[in-house]
Amino acid sequence: MTTAVYPGSFDPVTNGHLDVISRGAELFDKVIVGVLHNSTKSPLFSVEERVKILKQATKNLPNVEIRSFSGLSVEFARQCDAKVIIRGLRAITDFEYELQMAQTNRVLAPDIDTMFLTTSLEYAYLSSTTVKEVAAFGGDITKFVPEFVVDEVHRKFC
Ligand code: ADP
Repeated sequence: MTTAVYPGSFDPVTNGHLDVISRGAELFDKVIVGVLHNSTKSPLFSVEERVKILKQATKNLPNVEIRSFSGLSVEFARQCDAKVIIRGLRAITDFEYELQMAQTNRVLAPDIDTMFLTTSLEYAYLSSTTVKEVAAFGGDITKFVPEFVVDEVHRKFC
């Protein structure tokens, strides 16, 4: 059985993330989405909230599991018995950082590979940061995140 992990902040999950998750779920027997608990950032949603939202957003994908983690992605992959880390690539701006991280991870864990899924074009511009910025000014985020997430985000800014 081939298992892949997809680590990220997912604050909140966007349609771009969900596109990567569903495509990963077609490629691997199991995809474990890792919600990063990053104590240096102050996220809009707590880890528990992000896990809950992701569980609901992926409930139609039986081979996708949602967990939280802190620390290194390669350690999370090891704990999950995964040999692959999935990352999404939107634009050249993602590439430099993602390449550096993939190469670092390869040195830390030569038995684990990073696999990049290039974004579907309709989500190429989309990031959690953009969603939060638009929502903070009362803008319409219905094209960026699932419907139930729209309500969750707006509740945070109320
Ligand atoms: P962000 O805040 O940029 O959305 P995350 O840490 O939540 O960042 O992202 C996790 C992974 O998902 C990263 O590999 C990131 O490049 C990727 N990703 C984020 N948004 C998209 C998108 N719209 N299309 C494809 N991949 C994406």
